Amino acid sequence: MPHDEAISLEQLGITGTMVAYYFICQRKLWLFSKGLNLENISGNVDVIKGKILHESRFKRETHKEFAFDTVKIDFLRFGEQVFVHEVKKSKKFEKAHVWQLKYYIYLLRGQGVNCSSGVIHYPASMRKVEVTWEDDDNLCMEHALKSINQVVEEPVPPAVLNKKMCSRCAYFDFCYS
Ligand code: SF4
Repeated sequence: MPHDEAISLEQLGITGTMVAYYFICQRKLWLFSKGLNLENISGNVDVIKGKILHESRFKRETHKEFAFDTVKIDFLRFGEQVFVHEVKKSKKFEKAHVWQLKYYIYLLRGQGVNCSSGVIHYPASMRKVEVTWEDDDNLCMEHALKSINQVVEEPVPPAVLNKKMCSRCAYFDFCYS
């Protein structure tokens, strides 16, 4: 079912990473949206491990990718049904991972693709989380997308979180030095 025209995804340019960051730390979202992608250049060990896990997991599977302007989505197709796959290293930010995957489902459904579920794989802990698109997810997703847009439009970043997780964040030096 196509989305409400009030949300123009092409205009927003929102990636799956941005949706995840919105649920983890809005300052991180803001910094990332300005091109400060420290997780790709800092050598953050967790991020690199996540990328390696992703590559080794999927080279054994026959999977395909949907590519939009801002995101690429791994999926498997069974008949008319499409199932989205995401690989993550740690379950620490599971809620953010769930909404990132739901964003992919939202994008696919917006293109008329028959998709209402997916799986997040955590190979390091040999676990997986099944995600199902719920009745009120469309509203929640559109609310989140509007909020993401508001955050990235702010002229200055949100305040630092001052939380324990900051010490393991790729943006730590930037936020606290
Ligand atoms: S260090 Fe903390 S405040 Fe800064 S981006 Fe990371 S999580 Fe957010």
